[in-house]
Amino acid sequence: MIEIPDDHPRAESLRIRHVMEKGYMNRIVALAGLIAHGRGEAFDYIIGEKTTPPALKSIEAALSMIKLAKYPVFSINGNTAALAPNEIVKFAEISGIKLEINLFYRTEERIQAIKKHLLDVGAKELFGISDRKAQIQELSSNRRFVDKDGILKSDVILVPLEDGDRTEALRKMGKIVIAIDLNPLSRTAQWANITIVDNFLRVIKLFIEKWPDIEKKSESELKQIVRNFDNKENLREMIKYSIDYLNKISNKGIYIDEVLNFGYKIRI
Ligand code: ATP
Repeated sequence: MIEIPDDHPRAESLRIRHVMEKGYMNRIVALAGLIAHGRGEAFDYIIGEKTTPPALKSIEAALSMIKLAKYPVFSINGNTAALAPNEIVKFAEISGIKLEINLFYRTEERIQAIKKHLLDVGAKELFGISDRKAQIQELSSNRRFVDKDGILKSDVILVPLEDGDRTEALRKMGKIVIAIDLNPLSRTAQWANITIVDNFLRVIKLFIEKWPDIEKKSESELKQIVRNFDNKENLREMIKYSIDYLNKISNKGIYIDEVLNFGYKIRI
């Protein structure tokens, strides 16, 4: 693997790319998953690659919803498993959310590779790997197969990097859907009850950091947070944030060798 110098201006992004490449080599990430990652990177660029104030609001609403849920399930795909296996397992451990492996490009080999990847970092219970299969009638893709003790039973489902058709189908089944998607214009973002427009890697770390605060809140406080959250309004705020961010850059001209107040540095 190529060594990435720490002072490379895009070191973090390049390191994450290598994690994805390795995930692909190990059969965890699908080829199309690499393309989806690239689409995510492009949207991350136009928010300055950091968690924004509207995203923090949706994170608080999402965690409150997970805490209020009777049977929350976290749908894991190849990209998420490759990006943050430790954090996924840690969040499941502290919050009690169930983990289900659910793949669009579903092969037994990939399921086993992802299962091993998560077990290696301490996952205790994984759904979606045995023959407890049920089907979502509204869908024809491989993601129609769900675990009858996992997603099928869930009241709240967390779906990072989801495709729009399935989000729509899950909503029609009466599930409360929390999406994590850097693209505020995707059908997933539009269909979900709560959409966190931010990078999955930053979000899962914030989930872990903020969970103790959520646990301290009363049920009525949590319900109030959820009631006050308006997903359509939040998506509008996110789009406006990107426009303002790009406007600031265009007004300043090109920002070579300069640290903007967005904490962003480019050198040549
Ligand atoms: P839809 O079907 O919902 O309209 P889509 O066709 O873009 O969207 P996919 O091809 O499944 O759906 O793409 C996955 C989505 O995940 C993309 O919108 C991409 O921006 C987003 N994405 C990729 N990597 C990340 C990441 N690390 N964090 C958050 N979102 C990401």
